[in-house]
Amino acid sequence: MPPTASSPAVAARMSRQTSRDTAQELAVRRILHGSGLRYRVHVPVPGMPRRTVDIVFGKLKIAVFLDGCFWHGCPQHATSPRSNAEWWRAKLDRNMARDLETTAHLDTAGWTVLRFWEHESPEEVAHRVADAVAARRAARAASS
Ligand SMILES: [Zn+2]
Repeated sequence: MPPTASSPAVAARMSRQTSRDTAQELAVRRILHGSGLRYRVHVPVPGMPRRTVDIVFGKLKIAVFLDGCFWHGCPQHATSPRSNAEWWRAKLDRNMARDLETTAHLDTAGWTVLRFWEHESPEEVAHRVADAVAARRAARAASS
């Protein structure tokens, strides 16, 4: 059984960090869209339908994940709630193992996988995504 949130602060964090369309994600999408890039959002991972990719460039096979610092174990901001510490440790370890597995799965299928932490600036994230898109387009042009 998952523990219940032990305080209003923990409850707020839990709901905030499971939500989609975080401020960072919306900002990144706005910048990408503004620079003329088109993509799909919240797309099931091919072959892993219960997992989703945050931003997908399908034809170019680029998958972008914006990982929440808490849920995905960011080395700078990872914290473990003190109550039910063991349950949380196991839960967060599973999330991280799952992330690695998803990345490996997509990688094997020929995808470029980009993962960012939620603390990274939207400008920087969008810049790196746009670079990857440009590189992938150039590679396609060269091979066709
Ligand atoms: Zn972080």
